[in-house]
Amino acid sequence: MRQHDVVIVGAGLAGLRAALEMAGKVDVAVVSKVYPSRSHSGAAQGGVAAAMANEDEKDSVDSHEFDTVKGSDYLGDQDAIAIMTSEAPETIIEMERLGCVFSRDSKGRIAQREFGGHSHPRACYAADRTGHALLHVLYEQSYKHKQNITYYNEWYLLNLIYEDGSARGITMINIKTGEIEVIHAKTVIFGTGGYGRAYRITSNAFANTGDGIMATLRAGLPLEDMEFVQFHPTGLYQQGILMSEAARGEGGYLINSKGERFMEKYAKSRMELAPRDIVSRAEQTEINEGRGIDGKDFIYIDLRHLGREKILEKLPQIRQLAIDFLGVDCIDHPIPIQPTAHYSMGGIPVNNDCQVIRDSQKTKVPGFFAAGECACVSVHGANRLGTNSLLDACVFGRRAGKAALAYTIEARHEKINEAEEVRKARKRIDDLLNTPATESANDIRNDLKDAMSKNVGVYRSKEGLTAGKVALKALQQRFKKVRVTDKGRLFNTEIIEALELANMLEYSELIIEGALARTESRGAHARTDFPKRDDENWMKHTLAYKKPDGSIQLEYKPVVVTKHQPQERKY
Ligand SMILES: Cc1cc2nc3c(=O)[nH]c(=O)nc-3n(C[C@H](O)[C@H](O)[C@H](O)COP(=O)(O)OP(=O)(O)OC[C@H]3O[C@@H](n4cnc5c(N)ncnc54)[C@H](O)[C@@H]3O)c2cc1C
Repeated sequence: MRQHDVVIVGAGLAGLRAALEMAGKVDVAVVSKVYPSRSHSGAAQGGVAAAMANEDEKDSVDSHEFDTVKGSDYLGDQDAIAIMTSEAPETIIEMERLGCVFSRDSKGRIAQREFGGHSHPRACYAADRTGHALLHVLYEQSYKHKQNITYYNEWYLLNLIYEDGSARGITMINIKTGEIEVIHAKTVIFGTGGYGRAYRITSNAFANTGDGIMATLRAGLPLEDMEFVQFHPTGLYQQGILMSEAARGEGGYLINSKGERFMEKYAKSRMELAPRDIVSRAEQTEINEGRGIDGKDFIYIDLRHLGREKILEKLPQIRQLAIDFLGVDCIDHPIPIQPTAHYSMGGIPVNNDCQVIRDSQKTKVPGFFAAGECACVSVHGANRLGTNSLLDACVFGRRAGKAALAYTIEARHEKINEAEEVRKARKRIDDLLNTPATESANDIRNDLKDAMSKNVGVYRSKEGLTAGKVALKALQQRFKKVRVTDKGRLFNTEIIEALELANMLEYSELIIEGALARTESRGAHARTDFPKRDDENWMKHTLAYKKPDGSIQLEYKPVVVTKHQPQERKY
């Protein structure tokens, strides 16, 4: 058995920022199923928000805070939003001092660009490769401490060890060798990222399969606000690959088959820079009403008027992506795009110090912390504003590190039953190897993606959600007969993919159950049969539990409102 003071699962911005906070003070392990610099944080393009007021001196923390509350459609917890927005400027300066090379303005200050739902230009950026710049800096900086941090790269988390109400470690499998091991720890931190892979069109990396949240659920703990899945308005047609919102921040237009800038009808003052839920619905409405390009399910983003020079300087990566995947050069042609599943607002419920909570009374789970996209603080509520997520991961990664450090110093290694933990983990693998083997995992995965995209997408209804639920139940049954042809131990990626698929099939059910129950429209959750927001009944967070009999039980937790009473959202 391996023993460390702290085990962090996830080497994206949240996990690495937490590791850096504790390095040298306690013995830290970082576990990641992908090599750290391949974490999805590295794919982030457009920027990271902070009211630095470099481009517009009227910007302020208050304004950032209010924009975030309004953007969240009033479901965000306002105490947490105040923490994130007030700690934002120092976080950017800290990241710069650690070595992040941000783009500059003409006066040599950190440049800031416009982004959807933000009233001032406040996205700090490194061209359109911001996540790459931040992630590499954090990996380098944490790697400096390699005598204090043990990296388990390409190890896959199987289970959370949760006994007598506290977290005590994890079980994991070495992808290279197939060995199953326990890490016994005083403190566990999850920074396992998002879960957008259950959709056909998604911007998310292959790794975003919700493993951390499902390990949490399997331990008997709840997940929060799973019904809120963000669709980003500009995914490359049929690929889902992200065309950053920076493209609209720099002045890009959205146009339909009639050549109209249709956002005028939906958000007259903010146009293309309204929040993502509004822009994605506008696009979907244009497509549904037959104004997609050539009557198909896409529209255009037009950047031609920005000119070659600006495109090459500010948006080089998205230009190259559109060339590589669709053969379209945005200097001369508009790019075909459609809404793409992008961000998971829901996740593991935590308090403002990132300690996991297990009920609506916010009862803390000793030894268990979570930060970044897998966690639900909740700073994004029903809809995240662009550039607030890299910020969330850095700010709350640091807070998780601080709080977990204080906890760890006082804590000790509680007893665990190693043999039983290994047996449970081994059984998950053996069960997969010993099914009747008549069903293809690929087919199940494809059918899941189709069912979720068709029934649980930008628009939802009781009818669609119910159909989605029926489809999902059938897929879960088929999965019991899934075929794993590779029976070996070495680099058995077929097993890993089957474990990921099992997670996708389970969390999709939570998305549907939460969405069916929520009979209103709020942020990214848009019900055609309940088109209005219903503050009287639904100003509350969903907590979903899995009962021992496999059924899902929903409970609710109030939203924290401090300064801003809910108002109608106008843009
Ligand atoms: C294409 C794209 C562009 C984006 N652009 C922006 C942007 O411009 N601005 C912004 O604010 N946000 C952006 N976002 C969102 C933002 O990048 C993410 O929300 C954020 O980076 C998540 O960081 P994280 O540390 O929580 O998780 P991630 O960076 O996703 O890292 C997750 C980690 O968990 C590990 N892990 C997961 N499961 C397991 C397991 N079973 N075993 C072991 N390890 C595991 C992975 O290996 C990985 O290291 C973008 C997202 C995408 C997809």
